[in-house]
Amino acid sequence: MDNRFTKSISGRIGRLPSSEPDNTGFAQLDGEDFPEFETGSVWLVGAGPGAPGLLTLLGYHALNTADVVIYDALVNDKLLDWTRDDCQIVYAGKRGGKPSPEQGDISLKLIEFAKAGKRVLRLKGGDPFVFGRGGEECQMLARAQIPYRIVPGISAGIGGLGYAGIPVTHRETNHSVIFLTGHDASGNMPASVDWKAVAQASPVIVLYMALKNFADISSKLISYGRDGNDRVAIVSDATLPHQKITETTLYEAASTLDTAPIPKPAIIVIGAVGEMHHALDWYVDRARENQIG
Ligand code: SAH
Repeated sequence: MDNRFTKSISGRIGRLPSSEPDNTGFAQLDGEDFPEFETGSVWLVGAGPGAPGLLTLLGYHALNTADVVIYDALVNDKLLDWTRDDCQIVYAGKRGGKPSPEQGDISLKLIEFAKAGKRVLRLKGGDPFVFGRGGEECQMLARAQIPYRIVPGISAGIGGLGYAGIPVTHRETNHSVIFLTGHDASGNMPASVDWKAVAQASPVIVLYMALKNFADISSKLISYGRDGNDRVAIVSDATLPHQKITETTLYEAASTLDTAPIPKPAIIVIGAVGEMHHALDWYVDRARENQIG
């Protein structure tokens, strides 16, 4: 990691001073102040879907400043290079097949660190408020009267699809989109979802955490009138150099999942936009070589 890149931003941001191309990223930025990351507060920061360069400037500032970072399994480790040398790093994801820490335990940890006067950065994959339990953590923080801030991130179901050349909305195909999780807290297909309405409401459905139950979800949608020939694109490891797209249809989903091992994490998109990646597959060859994005 280039130290100059990490250290030189020093809490300020503004216009690039010259027209020279600046390959060091923020190195020459100067101008406006970032909001203060106060001691005793928690920032919930979206890390983006994978590529480190998809972190926001506010997220980068938070990493530079935090005393403690508590991060999830899907967060790219490279982001942790942008923390201070003395920053305490805490992992809050699954490890070696063990279950992840209880949500309540994580929230209590956040509160404990904040009460100890730390600047606490809760780093979560994608956007903290999209299927990320960020809301639950904020509720606990609010109850404990801990000040907090949300730093949104690029969600896998939007930005991740962008790296796959799949626009999540496209005028010719869909004026709406449904975002759905493929399982509930118990790991089953979410029972509270109105599958009939989902099958009929939008030409495009984007599913998070849905690989395990996708065969069942497909047949459910078909049974409620969705066309079984509807295109399905499954984007694994979106925005990372090993990103992979698997294509199938709702009819063939079960056999596709049986025959080809599909790497996780994966976003599933149902609908015609999935096919657009054939024409818009920009993330190839040299575009994949840069580790930042
Ligand atoms: N808050 C996150 C989603 C957390 S749920 C966000 O906004 O993106 C975790 C699910 O997100 C995974 O099961 C997968 O469906 C999806 N996901 C996250 N990162 C991904 C990636 N790089 N590629 C494909 N899917 C991803």
